[in-house]
Amino acid sequence: MTKHQTPNTEHQTPDTLLEIENLKVHIFTKKGIVKAVDGITFDISRSETLGLIGESGCGKTTAALSIINLVRPPGRITGGKIIFDGQDLVPMSNYEMRRLRGKEISIVRQEAQNALNPVMNIGKQITEMIIEHENVTKAAAWERARSQLNLVGISDARIRSYPHEFSGGMKQRVMISIATSCNPRFLILDEPTTGLDVIVQRQMLSLINNLKIKLSLTAILISHDLSVIAETCDKVAVMYGGKIMEQADTLSLYKNPMHPYSQALIGAYPSLKEGKKALKSIPGAPPRPISPPPGCRFEPRCAYAMRICREEEPLTVRKEGHLVACHLISD
Ligand code: SF4
Repeated sequence: MTKHQTPNTEHQTPDTLLEIENLKVHIFTKKGIVKAVDGITFDISRSETLGLIGESGCGKTTAALSIINLVRPPGRITGGKIIFDGQDLVPMSNYEMRRLRGKEISIVRQEAQNALNPVMNIGKQITEMIIEHENVTKAAAWERARSQLNLVGISDARIRSYPHEFSGGMKQRVMISIATSCNPRFLILDEPTTGLDVIVQRQMLSLINNLKIKLSLTAILISHDLSVIAETCDKVAVMYGGKIMEQADTLSLYKNPMHPYSQALIGAYPSLKEGKKALKSIPGAPPRPISPPPGCRFEPRCAYAMRICREEEPLTVRKEGHLVACHLISD
């Protein structure tokens, strides 16, 4: 175990469905190695939802894509484990991962509405997923597709409609119906409400929360919108510079952020009480992923930085239920 690795085994339970252990995803560019994800550790229990937050480029999406081996060259997983229901996914072949994707673990991608095939009706797009993973007749797959549409609040009378006949929110519902069509146990939601207006966003969150209960889903939800995370996630991991800075239950993290980056991130978000005040920005910029600072990655922007912060990467310690990587915090 590296010195900054979270001691994961401390909080594993028989209920754990996904364990990520010291995961590294590096991108090999001509200019150098981009350590997009650099040794992250967390776990998610069955029926639990983890929110991943952090500024753009902090590694949230890469971390989520690596779970289903969707990181494309020149990026690849260079270390660590992804244990799903007791089985390590990292050594799996592409064939094995294709069988798992959609069936056991599914993803709703960022800007998902653009991922629909514009020249294929939505019924066919749902049935394709079902037929790929299950030994069912075409008629049975179409019947299931109808139920899937009803499940996400779209009348099955629209089953032969094409994507251009739907609004952005309806297309997102279709994407969720495709992603859940084979009853996966684990769902990755990457910015599922981005680009939707406030009313449609609220409907989408309500749909996601209902589906989580109806289908007993375990999930990761990535969002830059802290209110979306607050409404959907049991716990939160704060990422910065490819690392996790803090993890805690959602309420506890929002009420009492311990890491200076978590404090800055939450402090920059307009409070619900303040109405629609503009999002403040955190002074400075995230580290260049090719050459991050040698010690704490937040050090150049941290108001509390000390000499040790420049020299040594902080250990992750547990305090009051939070896992925090900061030299200010001791257990
Ligand atoms: Fe700030 Fe040092 Fe903590 Fe990093 S380790 S967040 S620089 S106090």
